[in-house]
Parts: sequence; C-alpha cells; structure tokens
Amino acid sequence: MTRKKIKAGKASAGKKDLPGKKPADEIKKEINEIKEPDKEPVKKMEKRESLGHWKRWWAIATLVPFTIALFLSWYFGAPGGYAFASQIKVFLLFLQVGFVTAYFIRHDLKKAALHLWLTIAFLWALGLIVPFLSTQTNVLLDMSDISGELSTPLYLFISCLTAAWILPGKWRTIARIICALLIVVYVLIQFTYIGYYFITHSLISINMLLALAQTNLAETMEYIQVNIPYAGIAVGVTAVLLLGWLIYHNSRFSFDRVESVSRKTWFAMLGLFIVNLGLCGLSIGGTRIAQVYAETYETLQSFHDFQKIVEARRNMRIKDPEIIEKLKAAPDGVYVLVIGESLTRDHMNVYGYERDTTPFQSQAAIDPHYVFFNHAYSCYTQTVQVLTEALTEKNQYNDMALANAYSIIDMAREAGFHTTWISNQSRFGIWDTPIGAIGSACDDQYWINQYVGTDVITKDYDTVLVPYLKKVDPNNRRQLIVIHLMGSHVSYWDRYPSEFYHWSEDQGKVRSTSEIMNDEYDNSVLFNDYVMGSIMNSATNYLHADSVMYFSDHGEQVTERPGHNADQFDFTMVHIPFWVYTSPQYERERPEEFRMMLERRNMPFTNDMLYDTFLGIMGIKAAHYDPTDDFFSPKYDKDVTTLMTMYGNIMIRNDVEQLGSDKAANDAAWNQGLQDRARASGSDEFDWSRFKPVKISAKPMPEVENEGLSQAS
Ligand SMILES: [Zn+2]
Repeated sequence: MTRKKIKAGKASAGKKDLPGKKPADEIKKEINEIKEPDKEPVKKMEKRESLGHWKRWWAIATLVPFTIALFLSWYFGAPGGYAFASQIKVFLLFLQVGFVTAYFIRHDLKKAALHLWLTIAFLWALGLIVPFLSTQTNVLLDMSDISGELSTPLYLFISCLTAAWILPGKWRTIARIICALLIVVYVLIQFTYIGYYFITHSLISINMLLALAQTNLAETMEYIQVNIPYAGIAVGVTAVLLLGWLIYHNSRFSFDRVESVSRKTWFAMLGLFIVNLGLCGLSIGGTRIAQVYAETYETLQSFHDFQKIVEARRNMRIKDPEIIEKLKAAPDGVYVLVIGESLTRDHMNVYGYERDTTPFQSQAAIDPHYVFFNHAYSCYTQTVQVLTEALTEKNQYNDMALANAYSIIDMAREAGFHTTWISNQSRFGIWDTPIGAIGSACDDQYWINQYVGTDVITKDYDTVLVPYLKKVDPNNRRQLIVIHLMGSHVSYWDRYPSEFYHWSEDQGKVRSTSEIMNDEYDNSVLFNDYVMGSIMNSATNYLHADSVMYFSDHGEQVTERPGHNADQFDFTMVHIPFWVYTSPQYERERPEEFRMMLERRNMPFTNDMLYDTFLGIMGIKAAHYDPTDDFFSPKYDKDVTTLMTMYGNIMIRNDVEQLGSDKAANDAAWNQGLQDRARASGSDEFDWSRFKPVKISAKPMPEVENEGLSQAS
C-alpha cells in the first residue's frame, strides 16, 4: 500500500511541469493529507503486528529451505556425507534469504516477497538438474558438487538483490540487468547439460570441452549440422531472449525498493552483500561446470607445455656421446608409419565385418609379409589424447610427465634417420595441437590441410597424400616417414570421392538416419582401404620400405548420432586396426622380431605402446626405450589381465565380446580363415598388377610447400 501511494505521488510529481495540472495536484495532496490521519493508526497497528512476526518469518524462511537442501543432498546420495563446511555455506545462504524475506514481510511488500520466492523456486528447480542427471547417468557427485549446484544461483541472485538495495536510484537498473543476464547464463548452462544428456546420455564432462578445444570452427559447425537442426537453434534463441526480458521485467517488484531504508538496514545490507560475494565465489567453484572447466584447462595446459618442450627440443639433443653413438648404431632402414583416423575394425571386412569394405587389406592379410593383429585397442577415444601417448614415451603404464616424453621423431632424428611428415590433418586448431608439434620436428613436412580453423576450405581426400611419397628420396636408406590420414572422421560423406560411393546398393530404398550413417561410414572405410593400397604400392614398389606399420588413432561408434565421445564409451570406439608389413630383406635380417610378430598376432595390444614397439622395429633401443612396452620384444610383460584403455579407467579384459571365453575359438577360426583364403587364391603374394589406380575426378590439390626443418637450414 505504501508503495502504491508513493508511486502515485511520483507520477503526479512528474506532471508538475505542465502548467494546467498544478491545482489538481494540490487537491490530491490535500485529499491525501485528509486521508492520512484516518489510516495512520490502522497501519501502525498492522506494522507493529508484522514487526512482531518478522523474526518468526526470518526463522521459517531460513530453516525450511535449509532442511529441504539437507534432504536433497541426502536424497542424491552425496558421498562424503554432509561436509560441515558445505552445510555452513548453505545455512548462511538461507540466513540471508530469510533476512530479505523478513524485511519484505515487515514492510508489507507482498509482491516483492512473492517475486523473491518464485525466483528462488525457479532457480532451485534449475539447480536440481545436475544432481538429477547424475542419478540418471550413474555419476557420483560429491557434497561440494551438490551444494555448489544448489546454492550458486541463489548466491548470485541475493548478491544482485542486496546490491540493488544499497545502490541509489538509477543504479538499481544496472543491478537488475546484471541479475537478468546472470540468470540467463545460468539457464543456458543448465540447458547445455540437458542437451548434452539427450545427445550422449551422459553428464557433461571434460571430454566435451576437450573435443571442442581440439576441433576447429568448421568441424564444430559440421557437428552442429549433423546433430542439431536450425529450427531448434532459432527456437532456443527466441526462448532465451524472452526469458531474459521476463526476469528483468519482474525484478522490479523486489529490486525497486522505493521506501527509504534506515541507516542500520543499509549497513546490514552492505555487510550481507560483501559476505554474499565471498560465498558466491566459493560456491561457483563447487559447480559441475567450474570443475569440468578447471580440469579441461589443466589438461590443455599440459598439452601446451608439451608442445613448447617439443619445440625447444628441436635444437636440444641427447648430450651423452656414448648414447648417441649407440643410437646411431641402429641398422639402416626405410620405415613408414601410417596413422589412421576414427577407423573401427568392427567395420572392416578383413576383421570379419560382413560387407566387403577392405578389398585391399583382405588380400594383404593373406600375404605372408603382412601381419594383422586382431585384438588391438586404442588407449583413449580422442585423437590428441591417443596420439600424444602413441607417438611418445608416455603411456598408460608409466607415470612419466608428458612434457618429459621423447617422441618417435625425436628418437629417429637422434639415431640419424631422415624424417618426413605428410599430413591431411590441420596443423593448427583453436589450440595448436600437440600432434602438430610432434610433426613439426621433422626434416621434411607436407601439411596438405592448410586451414587454420576459422574458415571452411575444400576438404581433400586422403589420396592427395600419396604423391608426396614420391618426394622422398628412395636412395637414402635411413628414413622414417609418417603419414597422418583424415580417414573416416565425421562427416563421413566428406571423406571419400563419388567414385567410392558403394552403399547403399539399393538406391531406391528409404533409409533411416542410422542406416545412412552406416552406409556413409562404410563408403569411407572402402575409400580408406584404397588409400592404404595406394600408400603400400608406393611404399613397397618405389621406396622399397623395410617395414610399414598401420594403426588407427581410435575407433568409432556408428549410430544415428555417430562419433567417438569418451562419455558414450563403447568398446567399438577403441577397436582399432593394427598391422605391420615387413620386407623379405627385413625378415631375413631380423628373424627374431618377425617371429615375435607372428607369435603375437592374436594377443591384445594398446596403441599407447606404439612408441616402444615402433622403435623396436627400427632397432633404436639404446635410450628412451622400454622393452617391457615393446609388443615384439621377448621382455614385453603385458597381457589381457593388465592391459587398459581410457587412460587406465577401463580394463581391456572387460571387452567380453572380443576377449571372452570364446577368444581361443575365435582366434583359431580367424587364423584358419586366413589360411583357407590363402590356399583358395592360389598365390598368397600380393599381386600389384591387379591393383588399378582409380581416376578420381575431384579437383586436384594445389601443391603445398615443404615446411620441414631441412628447408630452414
Ligand atoms: Zn581421431
């Protein structure tokens, strides 16, 4: 009532400037003055009555929500019990909510009290989203997660509210705008959780942010196009704008405190505001998003440190001349390492997939110079996490810091090998990738994919890499060549030219989204097989390579919403192809290594041990080499019981589909199949005259410059 009256007074005060209105105003004032004495005693009585009640209201408004919060943290089963510090924080929060409520009641500001509590209820409902999703996804949150999630929005809101109270006049509008913005941001974060849950059936984690940081804008846009329709985005933006306006508009009830507060109340409010800001900071740190962000930042920082050190190491050499001499004593040889992308062996015919997606590799598998390993796993499901371990000393089984880990390139150069890097993956992401840093240590470098992450440029098919092998001098018999493919990364339809469109075979058929994804993926696998054939053709017939190794960084789960997000872990995401070619000369000169390869073809392997395994093949064993991680060394000490994936979080032996009780029978069948096919085909040697180059009509690639270190010096 007081508010209304003052509002009326204000309105008339505004009209004062108009000359004709003066008498009317004075009349109104007179009327007010007449009315006032009548009302006064009644109001005072009411006030005194509510004055007596306000302490009770304070107690109710503090204790009731506090009890509910306690119940909720019990209900969501926070481990670590009811951490005392967290409870104190929550209690202090509601003490403040109680104070504000009591103030409103004491001054009969019913609408303000209603607005306050509607907002609190709304924010609380949002705060319950993370604890609720955690129960749906079996993620255990600890007490700080739950109290952080439940109290952060309220702290933010109360901070804005008290700020509005201690600020004069127009400044309150700023507090209202900030409040509306904060709530909108908070709502957006919560809806990200929900959206992420619907897409991945998991609670948001470091994996999503890392994936975002590792992809460039073009890839992110591709992902959005695949997963979220534009109509959905439009509806979302409209809803957010509407919500922002609604919050701002309604905040006038509790934020536009018109009645002047006493000096005592003002100082109480100031104290409240300061306490609130401090608690708010503590509380934000306890939210899921803050913890995920901090973890992501830490990981990216470690990649960044690694990259800096790799760059520094370009000119830093192993100092001990004795070790260098031993490294240089490694036998000569031309070695090729091919890194695939997002290829799961579950979609490869050579590993038993029903569609003929691998005509070249199926033929190669029966050639005695190729050894196919049928139980290879990746150590994670995302490129950078895998390759930083696959290409360096660091792996899941040692506790080395990534920054101290030497890479295959570093060691090959120390041993006097000429190194070449040929890549179809971008060298610079939004965060320069550590893989780019490893490759940047090579003597010769061809980065075919030249875009830096802000623009969509032609996507080149992996066949463009093959001619670059011809730039390598086959007469230098001490070389390492690394080829990094784009492979079968989403979007699959961008990874193969029209000549390799093979599925679906019945083009008139109406397909579901998951069938389309499956067909597109298989087309990309078919093309990748052709790329591998072309690479092997050059590697054996032109370079006369001593050994070629092929593996994929990780697998892929091909569903309606395909991908390799670690949050949606499935073993198909870590089922990778892994095979080694060795020349007849290599087999003659290094019979021990070759024998071990054949012996271990049915044993499980994780690709973070690739560094030691590959150095073993090259014979670089004098330093920074651990034979217990070398798959082809007699000292190799891992087996199905100790091998891990997902950075040590999942045991390989849990993959019962591959390594269950049927393993021995399956392996025998696989080996038998190879033998049968070899016998049926008459000759088991791969016949290159039957490998016909396919003329691809897609635009030919402009030639890229050699950016290698050999060019600089
Ligand atoms: Zn990858």
